[in-house]
Amino acid sequence: MRWSQLFIPTLREAPAEAEAASHRLLLRAGYVRQVAAGVYASLYLGQRSLLKIARIIREEMNRIGAQEFYLPALNPAELWQTTGRWDLDVVFKLKDRNQHDLCLGITHEEEMTQLACGELRSYKQLPQIWYQIQEKFRDEPRPKGGLLRLRQFLMKDSYSFDLEESGLDVSYQKHVEAYRRVFQRVGVRYLFVEAYSGVMGGSVSGEFAAPAEAGEDRVAVCPCGYAANLEKAEANPAPVEDLPGNDPPEIFATPGQKTIEELVHFTHESPARMIKTLVYWVESTPVVILLRGDHSLSETKLAASLGTNVFRPATPEEALAAHGAHLGSLGPVDLKAEVRVLADRALQGRKNMIAGSNQDGYHLRNVTPGRDFQAEFADLRTIEAGDLCPRCGKPIELISTIELGHVFKLGRKYSEAFGARVLGPDGKESPLVMGSYGIGLERILAAAVEQNHDEDGMFLPRSIAPFDVILTVANMDDQALRTAGETLYLKLLERSVEVLFDDRPERPGVKFKDADLIGIPYRITLGKQKFQQGLAEIFDRSTKKIENVKLAELEEALDAKIPG
Ligand SMILES: [Zn+2]
Repeated sequence: MRWSQLFIPTLREAPAEAEAASHRLLLRAGYVRQVAAGVYASLYLGQRSLLKIARIIREEMNRIGAQEFYLPALNPAELWQTTGRWDLDVVFKLKDRNQHDLCLGITHEEEMTQLACGELRSYKQLPQIWYQIQEKFRDEPRPKGGLLRLRQFLMKDSYSFDLEESGLDVSYQKHVEAYRRVFQRVGVRYLFVEAYSGVMGGSVSGEFAAPAEAGEDRVAVCPCGYAANLEKAEANPAPVEDLPGNDPPEIFATPGQKTIEELVHFTHESPARMIKTLVYWVESTPVVILLRGDHSLSETKLAASLGTNVFRPATPEEALAAHGAHLGSLGPVDLKAEVRVLADRALQGRKNMIAGSNQDGYHLRNVTPGRDFQAEFADLRTIEAGDLCPRCGKPIELISTIELGHVFKLGRKYSEAFGARVLGPDGKESPLVMGSYGIGLERILAAAVEQNHDEDGMFLPRSIAPFDVILTVANMDDQALRTAGETLYLKLLERSVEVLFDDRPERPGVKFKDADLIGIPYRITLGKQKFQQGLAEIFDRSTKKIENVKLAELEEALDAKIPG
């Protein structure tokens, strides 16, 4: 294609609101334009990249025997009321002219399960894997970061239907392998991590995450290969040395000291030698939660421990009424009320700690869990950098990531809700066993930019770059250069090279700046001086290395760089 005839609105400056590199560069390179918060239009270059990403995903899905569908985003309320997801606050809802409730799909478990229901009748029709590449809508509370958190986005979602769990294991594994091939082919570095399954409600799930500073997720990683989602990750805290002695708890005055920070400052003691006491209302019952002073509660883990996610922190008034002291003075010894006490495992085996005394203005020292109070121990805390890897015992690291894809074993949750049952070989009916699997297309593009950019622009992996090569004629007014450029352009087209011919009557500096910006892997430059010596330049955008190649050998040199 000839740049002079295309719409590629590059920008010299990044818009002020764009913080993430991918947001800034995709706007500057003319890939996308914002329509509303979290809603973007893909322009010519952006659409070329997204179509390449879609093609790779299609090829890999087809390879595992998945069948491509296309389901509408406009859904009747009844579908979502069947599973109770109508009330999720991310659902965009609307009414038609007859006042019927509708919504825009956040995902497609409901529609796919309803399709399966009544159509799949026998185990002989199984397994099935159905997928689509389609728009999803989510009313995100804080859409931001360009293509990283969108309210309307493209997703490849697929759904597997099996008779038994063993079949689901196979379908799940096929997806994990297909996803590995997809992410390898699109050239994005990724981790496969264990994940908490959030609103999906499945029990086993995995997440494909691209390490990138702009990412909003945090993943715990270890050089041994261990990788886990922060919400779910288990790790052992680095050991703490306890104070010696076996004295009983001793009360001491701590006037006005309420937070762990204040107490650290007041006592000159490490927060790791303190017990943090929280009060939660679980359904309608108060529960006391204990953590090491420097640790924080993972509500995800708390939900797993309690077997419910109906809970909230107690208000200061509720805590005072129940325990006779304010929140900052509560502790596990001699609690005023009979109450369930949950303690994080990091408190197990510790001794001589500082805790609240259940009397405002006083704390206790020499508090020893198990001797001075009883508790149920559970994994309740959010892990931290420096914790020890559960696999190899070395310190873990926390990194920021972008979620690219997710694989879920849903089990029978959706098929039971819809009554989607099949006859088994024994003649008995049973609910379908399902899996659901997603990949975000814009996220792949954004992650590729986050991982491959510098101050001048981006360098996309060739598999998803809008073109393989940009052919830059430094000066279109130079007749010899112009003719050589036109000839080379046609030759490259004949060889099926995806080439963008920068034939604009612009200064060379402008052309080079644009070429550096828009993410095309190679630039061929025809410049006056080298051309007179029979040479052209091949510029590798990712390494910024320039190679001088004889004009006659240019196509061969290019073939070696972009085979096939
Ligand atoms: Zn490890």
